[in-house]
Amino acid sequence: MEHAGAIQYRANSLFLEKNATQNQKLARAGLISHETSHMWFGDYVTMKWFDDVWLKEVFAGFMADKIINPSFPEVNHELKFLLSHYPAAYEIDRTSGANPIGQQLENMRDAGALYGNIIYHKAPIVMRHLESLMGAEKLQAGLQEYLKQYAFGDATWDQLIEILNKQTEIDLVKWSNIWVKEAGMPIIKTQLEIEADKIKKATISQSDPAGKNRIWPQQLEFELYYNNPEKNKILDINFNNSITELDQTVNMDNPLMITPNSKGNAYAYFELDEGSKQYLLNNINSFKDPLKRGIAWITLWENMLNLNIDKTQLYQLQLNSLDVETNPLIIGKILSQTGTIYWQFFSKTERLEWAAKSEEKLWSLINGTDDAGLKKNYFDSYQNMALSDEALMKLFSIWEGKTAIKGLELTDNNKTGLAYTLALKIPDQSKVILNKQLDRIKNEDRKDEIRFVMPSLSNVDKERDLFFQSLRSPANREHERWVVTSLNYLNHPLRAEYSIKYLKVSLELLQEIQLTGDIFFPKQWLDAVLGGYQSKKAVAIINKFLQEHPDYPENLKAKILQSADFVFRSQDLVQQK
Ligand SMILES: [Zn+2]
Repeated sequence: MEHAGAIQYRANSLFLEKNATQNQKLARAGLISHETSHMWFGDYVTMKWFDDVWLKEVFAGFMADKIINPSFPEVNHELKFLLSHYPAAYEIDRTSGANPIGQQLENMRDAGALYGNIIYHKAPIVMRHLESLMGAEKLQAGLQEYLKQYAFGDATWDQLIEILNKQTEIDLVKWSNIWVKEAGMPIIKTQLEIEADKIKKATISQSDPAGKNRIWPQQLEFELYYNNPEKNKILDINFNNSITELDQTVNMDNPLMITPNSKGNAYAYFELDEGSKQYLLNNINSFKDPLKRGIAWITLWENMLNLNIDKTQLYQLQLNSLDVETNPLIIGKILSQTGTIYWQFFSKTERLEWAAKSEEKLWSLINGTDDAGLKKNYFDSYQNMALSDEALMKLFSIWEGKTAIKGLELTDNNKTGLAYTLALKIPDQSKVILNKQLDRIKNEDRKDEIRFVMPSLSNVDKERDLFFQSLRSPANREHERWVVTSLNYLNHPLRAEYSIKYLKVSLELLQEIQLTGDIFFPKQWLDAVLGGYQSKKAVAIINKFLQEHPDYPENLKAKILQSADFVFRSQDLVQQK
C-alpha cells in the first residue's frame, strides 16, 4: 500500500522462498516498482474523486513495466502482457453487462463496485494504445507537465487528457470518449475479393455490437500470410472509420490468411473470414513466434464463443496442440480453455464421450515432462477433468499416498484440493475421504477450512441444503475464500440439476453481500454461483430475477450479466453439433 513516503508490504511478498520461481521474482520486482510509482501517480498528484481511481492504478502498472521489464530479458513480456490482459478484458467487454473504464460514482459506499477486470486489464491495454498513438516521447512530456502542474494537488483524467491533447494533432478527447468512457468493443471483419489469384479489393470494417454505431479508432497491423513467410506483408493502418479499403493490397498475390491484428495490440472481436479461419485451424502450431500463437488462441476462442468456430473442432485442436506446444504461458492458456469447453459448453453426453480421450492425453503429458511447473499444470487439469473410474482410482491412489508421480510435489493444500475433488466425484466415499484428510492436516487454520467446506461436498442432499441456508447469515460468510470454494462445489456441473434451486436465493443475497463483504466478493460470489450452469432453466431464473427487480442497482445488475455470460452463451454452444 502506497502511503506517501512509507510503503507497506506484506512480508511474504518480499521475502521469497529459496527456490522462488522467476514469476515470483518478477512479481516482487513489479510490486516494488508499482508502489514506488504511486509516489508520483496517486500521492504527488491525487485523483480528484474516487471515480478516477483507475488512473493512478494504470499508471503505477504502466511505469512498473517500464522499470522492471529490462531487468528480466529472458521473459517474453509481450506474450505475458497479451495473455494476462486481453482475455480478462474480453471476458467483461463481450458481455451485455460490460462497464466502461471511467465510471460515475455518486456515493463512496459503492466505490468497491468500480473495481474489476476492466480497470485492471482493459485500462493497461488502452494506455498502451495511447502511448503508441501519441508516441512515447510526447506521452512522457505530457505526463511531466501534468505532474508539475498538479503537484501536491489533485486532478482528473479529463485534465490529463487536456494536457496530452496539446502534444498531438490527434483529437484525444474524442479518443478518450470512446475508449475510456464507453463500454464494449467493436467487431472487426476483413474481406477479400480475388480475381485471377490476385487481390482485386481488400476491405476492413468495424461494427458496434450494441447497435449504437460507435466507432473505436485504433491502429491495426494488417498482415497477409503466404507460403513463404518471407513474402508476408504487414501494413500499418490508422483505422478511424467504419470501413476502409486497403488500396495498397490491390494486385498482391492471393494470401493464405489475413489478420488485422498481427502484433496483438489491437482490441476487438476479430471475426475470422472463412479462408483465414481454416488456415489458422490447420497451421496454428507452425507459427514460430509464440506471440503469434498466443494471439491466435485468443482469436479462435472469441470466434468459438461467437459461434464462428465449432467448439468440438477447437477442443480437438487444443488437445492435439498440447503435444507440440512448448511455451508454458500458452500451455496454461490452452488448458484453461479446454477446461471451460469441457464443463461449460459440452453437453453431459459430449463430456462423457471426451472424458477418456482427455484423461489419456493429460496423463501422458504429466508423465512426459520433466518441468515441475508444467507437470503440476497438467495434473491440475487432469484432476479437474477426470470422470472415468480408472482416472478417479489413479487420483485416489495418489491422494492416499500409495502411488506417486515422479517429479510431482503435492503440498498439503494440493492434497486437500485433491480430497475435495475426490469427495465430489466419488460421492459415496465423500465422508471417509474428507474425514481422513482432516485427520492428516495438522495446521489448525487449514483444519478449520476443511470443516467449513465439508458439508458443501456431502453426498446427503439435506446437509448441502443446510449448508446453503447457513450462508444467509453474514457471520457464516466471513471467510470469503472458503465460501467461494464451497459454492464452486455446491454448484458444480455434476450437481447442477439438484443445486439449481439455490440460484434464485443466491441472486437475492447479492445486495446484502455487497454491503457486508469485501469489494471483490460480489463478483466472486456470482462467478461461483453461476459458473456451473448451462440449462434453459438457469437462464430463465436469471432473466426472471432481473425482470422482477427493475430498480436494481446498475452496477450489480451489470455484474450479474457479466457473470451469467457463459450461461447465456451455452444455450447455443451446447446445442452446436
Ligand atoms: Zn496500486
